[in-house]
Amino acid sequence: MAPSFHFTVSFLEPGYHVYQITLHIDDLPLGRHSLNLPVWTPGAYEIQDFARHIFDLHAMANETSLELSHTGKNSWEFETFAAEQAVTVQYKVYAFELGVDTSHLDASHAYWNGAQLFFWLDEYKHQPFTVRIEAPAGWKVATGLDPDPVHANQFVARDYDVLIDSPVECGTHRTLEFTVDDKPHTLALWGHGNENAPELNKDIEQIVKAQRDIFGELPYHHYTFILHLADRGTGGLEHLNSTTCGVERFSFKPRKKYRRVLGLIAHEFFHLWNVKRIHPDMLGPFDYSHEVYTHLLWAMEGFTDYYAGISLRRANLFSVAEYLNSVAENVMAYEQQPGRYVQSLAESSFDTWIKLYKPDEDSRNRTISYYLKGDLVGTCLDLEIRHRTQNHYSLDEVLRRLYQRYAAHGIGFPESVYQETVEEVAQSSFQDFFDRYIRGTDEIPLATCLRYVGLEISRRYKNPDRDEENDSFDSLESTDSTVAKPWLGIETKASEAGIQISGSYTSGPAAAALYAGDQIVALNGFQVKKPEDLSHRVERDCQIGDTVTIALFRRGQLLTVPIVLGQAPYDKVEIKPMADPTEEQKIAFESWLSAPLSSAKSH
Ligand SMILES: [Zn+2]
Repeated sequence: MAPSFHFTVSFLEPGYHVYQITLHIDDLPLGRHSLNLPVWTPGAYEIQDFARHIFDLHAMANETSLELSHTGKNSWEFETFAAEQAVTVQYKVYAFELGVDTSHLDASHAYWNGAQLFFWLDEYKHQPFTVRIEAPAGWKVATGLDPDPVHANQFVARDYDVLIDSPVECGTHRTLEFTVDDKPHTLALWGHGNENAPELNKDIEQIVKAQRDIFGELPYHHYTFILHLADRGTGGLEHLNSTTCGVERFSFKPRKKYRRVLGLIAHEFFHLWNVKRIHPDMLGPFDYSHEVYTHLLWAMEGFTDYYAGISLRRANLFSVAEYLNSVAENVMAYEQQPGRYVQSLAESSFDTWIKLYKPDEDSRNRTISYYLKGDLVGTCLDLEIRHRTQNHYSLDEVLRRLYQRYAAHGIGFPESVYQETVEEVAQSSFQDFFDRYIRGTDEIPLATCLRYVGLEISRRYKNPDRDEENDSFDSLESTDSTVAKPWLGIETKASEAGIQISGSYTSGPAAAALYAGDQIVALNGFQVKKPEDLSHRVERDCQIGDTVTIALFRRGQLLTVPIVLGQAPYDKVEIKPMADPTEEQKIAFESWLSAPLSSAKSH
């Protein structure tokens, strides 16, 4: 008889942030057995060593304690002395880290990722698991797990991967619902802010429909959106039929901020296809004990970002002008990363465990994000496929073929298949494209690809008097200029002392003179208190070539450092329709964004 696995999760005292977990195993064979906890959780490519939160672990068989030996940082062993034995393992987990990939328990709710709470035993990852939740009165549960049809507050997972891939929100959250293709979708909101919950629910429904249209079906029985509203954003994490997103509670207004919330949700939802089902073979089933390596995270994450924007546009939640402005903002962010000439997308993917997830003050100069560059390469690849096939095919078709050939059969694909599928869809070679922009560090052909659809890209200097974050400015007209600005070439942040340097550009004038961690206190003999005061004084009152004096504290010592101001790189990108687009360009644009090119001129 195969053993069966039943977890019970209870909250002894939520205010102490401690989960009490009981694992009851029936019919365990005779012999030595190994208990293991994941060291990472899928979607967050970082070793987190969750076992550090485990304590008070013990095991019993027939009222008798079993001796547990600690065999590794995330593993324990015990021995059973009878065949088909019932074993109970009990332990506690401290959980007070509010994030999408962590676990949290307090008086207001319980939220967990299975990788932090649930052991797997030996090779028994493919059996079903049940989870019973002993919640305080009045608390309810939101999760992608299937409810047990017989027992209330009990859930079933067909195997360990599903158990780990189904976070649980349990508490007094608000619940909203909608149905697409007869499938129920639940939005669970924990926390309050300036959200309009019914409008949010309706907008998410539009995102679901727009993305469903790409693949023609929704490959799940039900889907759960868990949304945490707190004092800071914690990002998002994708799962098989659910997602958790954490956003700053007042990020639903103005509209520009709200679109970012929708963009995050659209990104995580799109992952149910791209990465959860369409993925290289290294990304599932997972090895939870070690890092897993792939060169394709630009396709898994960057293309998911690309489709988040595209689906907001197709769902009419982005106007054409808003969409093009968001592309322009991404181009600007990309062009402010000198590391794009150092690290390729393939390397950035492979090294994510030690670079993207472990950034330092010099990362900008040596690395490139596979999200940011992957999104723009997705734009180029989509437009290039459309161009070469006279708009018959697009990147959608590449994803559909990968979905039908691999994901629909529950398997990943070998890495080389990605380029091959692109070439098959476009009926031409993309060797040069992949060599230069994915495996290499050549500048991406954005201007060329945007020209296919009648758009041109220009670069300017931002008007320092404009409040980008809080104005509702969406027009493509601007007050920005082409007159070069002076700069120090440093990044700063507010600190207790005033202004702390968080990093510098290797190509900037202060690169070898000002260090990360320096506390700037004065410019040309006058005190500066805030990062924006320093940048405004440099931009408004100084000229390129001026020598300025920076007074700073370095490791507690007061120093004065002269810097010759350099010329800042452009800090504003605009994407606009060309003055005289051809018929061909107009048709290509409309086929891409489902709106006429002329609509790009106004909002
Ligand atoms: Zn993602």
